[in-house]
Parts: sequence; structure tokens; C-alpha cells
Amino acid sequence: MPKVRFHNMNFKDDIKVLQKSLTRIQKNMPNFKKMANMYFKNPDNKNLIEFIAENKQHFIGMRDSNSKRIIKNWRKIEKRYFSEVEKITCYKWKFKTYECYLSSTFFIGGNYTVDEKHLKPHNTIMVCPYTKHVDPIYVIAHELFHAHTQGVISCTNIKLDKNYLKISGPMAEIILKVVFSEIPITGFNRNVYPQYDKICQTLKKRWIKDKDFKKLILDTYDLLEKGA
Ligand SMILES: [Zn+2]
Repeated sequence: MPKVRFHNMNFKDDIKVLQKSLTRIQKNMPNFKKMANMYFKNPDNKNLIEFIAENKQHFIGMRDSNSKRIIKNWRKIEKRYFSEVEKITCYKWKFKTYECYLSSTFFIGGNYTVDEKHLKPHNTIMVCPYTKHVDPIYVIAHELFHAHTQGVISCTNIKLDKNYLKISGPMAEIILKVVFSEIPITGFNRNVYPQYDKICQTLKKRWIKDKDFKKLILDTYDLLEKGA
């Protein structure tokens, strides 16, 4: 089974990733402001990126005081998680090692790399170890699942075009929603992205019938392409 290798993320890169995804996140998360207030006591209401940069040591401290416990807790379920996902999807993990970057700024939860130039699978994820609105252990598993799906997508006939890039984000979340609750680990049956509940119901019916993960990916792609 694969293993996760943890690294501290370089602060400059950390801020860059947050900055790059901020507009998209604000658009997709109606409770963004409330959540940001949980983590950032920002009395002057400064620009978020500026505020974090000015308080660098504080945020790095938050990460470092939580990292050890998170890594320890992850190790307790790691083997079981990797093996359950293989069992459910009937696909082996592409990589022997998955690199997890611990972020001091990405309070939304985590991220996985979608390479926009090609459909190659990836083994790099990013997780913030001090989140309270969501368990960082769940986030690690969640982002790894996206990486695994990306690995399987690379062996489908889905072609890279403008359309795929547009739907790749929702597609990843929908596929996860259909399958993820079947992983028998406590706390993993969270209902994320309720805006996709309806399309997931349709796909779940098909998934239950033949449990064909590649087909689920193609079905999801088809439905989204048709504008579902
Ligand atoms: Zn996700």
C-alpha cells in the first residue's frame, strides 16, 4: 500500500496558492466570510492575503502546533484507508508515495493538483492541519481520493479540451460524493457540496448496479457535458 509523506509548505508558495484560488473559493462558498472570521481576527478588515503575510509567524505557529497530532492520527488509519479505496474502486493507487504539504494559510481545508496542461495523475496534495470546521484527517483522505480519481481518469478516453477543464472541479467532487461514503471509516460520510445532491442521486443508482468506477467517471463527464 502507498504511504503519505508529509512536508511543511514554504510560506511564499502557501500564500500564492491561497491567492490564486481565493476568487474561486469566495464564489463557491456562501459562508466564506463567516469561516474566515473563525481563523483570522482581522479587526482592520485588511485584505486577507496582506493580513496573513503580515502575521506569518502566527500562522506558521498554528500549523506547527497541530501537525504532529495530525500526522500521528493519520498513521492510525492510513493503511486501512488506502486498501479500502482500492477495494471500492477496483483500481490500484498509481503511486507508492503521496506527498502531503502542510499549509499554514489554506484554512478552507485542502487542495489537490489538477494539472491543466494534461491529464496526468498526481501524487501531491495540500492540507491545513489546524482547521476546526472540518477534520484535517478527513481532508487528507478527501484530497487523496481526488488524486486517485485523477489517476483513473488518465486511463479513460476523456480528452483534454476546454470543456473538461471547466467541469473537472465539479466532476471530482461529484464522483467523490457518490463513492466516498462507502469507506467504512468513522467521520468519512460527511455530506459535502450539497449543491450536487441531485446529480449524485442519479449517478449513485447507476453506480450501485455495476460498481464500475471507470464507468462512473464517464457517466459523470457525460452528464456534466450535457449541462446537468
Ligand atoms: Zn474536493
